[in-house]
Amino acid sequence: MSAKLIKGTEIREQILAEIAGEVSQLKEKHGVVPGLVTILVGQNPASISYVTLKIQTAERLGFKEVQDNQPDTLSEKDLLALIDKYNKDDSIHGILVQLPLPKHVDEKKVLNAIDPDKDVDGFHPVNVGRLMIGGAEVKFPPCTPAGIQELIVRSGVETNGAEVVVVGRSNIVGKPIANMMFQKGRGANSTVTVVHTATKDLAAHCKRADILIVAAGVPDLVKPEWIKPGACVIDVGVNRVGEKISKKTGKKIAILKGDVDFDAAKEIAGFITPVPGGVGPMTITMLMKNTLKSLYASQLAVTPESVSCHRTIRFFWSVGTIPSSILSGVGEVELLPRRKDSP
Ligand code: NAP
Repeated sequence: MSAKLIKGTEIREQILAEIAGEVSQLKEKHGVVPGLVTILVGQNPASISYVTLKIQTAERLGFKEVQDNQPDTLSEKDLLALIDKYNKDDSIHGILVQLPLPKHVDEKKVLNAIDPDKDVDGFHPVNVGRLMIGGAEVKFPPCTPAGIQELIVRSGVETNGAEVVVVGRSNIVGKPIANMMFQKGRGANSTVTVVHTATKDLAAHCKRADILIVAAGVPDLVKPEWIKPGACVIDVGVNRVGEKISKKTGKKIAILKGDVDFDAAKEIAGFITPVPGGVGPMTITMLMKNTLKSLYASQLAVTPESVSCHRTIRFFWSVGTIPSSILSGVGEVELLPRRKDSP
């Protein structure tokens, strides 16, 4: 194998350790912890397992975790009232409504009711707009794309001026990661091409990529001859291609495959993510990071005179400094203690 394996499981542990360290300091010095509420309506087994993973991770990090399970008979009005309650709760910094919702509930209406400043999933139209503007406007980058960017940055892959090709244009992966990679800033500043089912010559575009991000949901779509030697290949695809018996538990488990022919691609690429164990572990990790960012943001006061020129933003914060690892993706940030006379 010539490519360096980008291990999402290892990078997840690094980031979770950073977050846990921050949380314990915040708790010790200032008596605050990030608060995350997960709202689950009904008993969809896949939703239960996703929510359980999120809860376990939040608990492991020392967050305040509120698990709000509701029956599938919950009316849209009552769900909106519940969201309103958490929007007003100062101890809650992130609100997560697990999808799908029962058919009698308008999902869009519900998601849009979440306070954009607590929308740690980053899918509220306000946060989509903030992401498009970029820089310090970005509050919550959506979790899977944010995880992809972290994998690239922490693997030491050069993004500045790189040709990035994104396969797929979904709202949850393709569009946001393309948008993030062309912004001016750390881990970005790339030249981005987005390809999809109407693209005439997919192979030709992929071959140009220094960084190839594939999120199509088609097993083995990307062939080894489409990969530029030495390129960084990020395989977002998770495709169930069969079942097997787990050696550990003896239970039936899904056989997962990515969108890239991994065995052949790893001989050509410079860096590559495996499936599973690449992008997958990053999504919940970035959800936790967004919740911590939300807590910090709730303590921040930006005064007009605090914003200086040339991409340096001065935040006045009452309790000290925010680690740059938590604020990654927002450009250069300089932190100063909150002034006595600031609001
Ligand atoms: P999606 O909404 O189905 O979008 C797929 C995109 O890929 C579409 O834009 C589609 O083009 C494009 N596409 C499909 N087949 C193609 C082909 N043959 N050639 C070129 N483009 C093609 O999927 P998604 O939600 O973005 O998810 C993509 C994959 O990532 C899935 O396997 C999903 O399970 C996985 N995923 C993983 C994570 C994670 O690991 N945490 C998170 C999210 C998604 P059109 O727009 O033209 O139809």
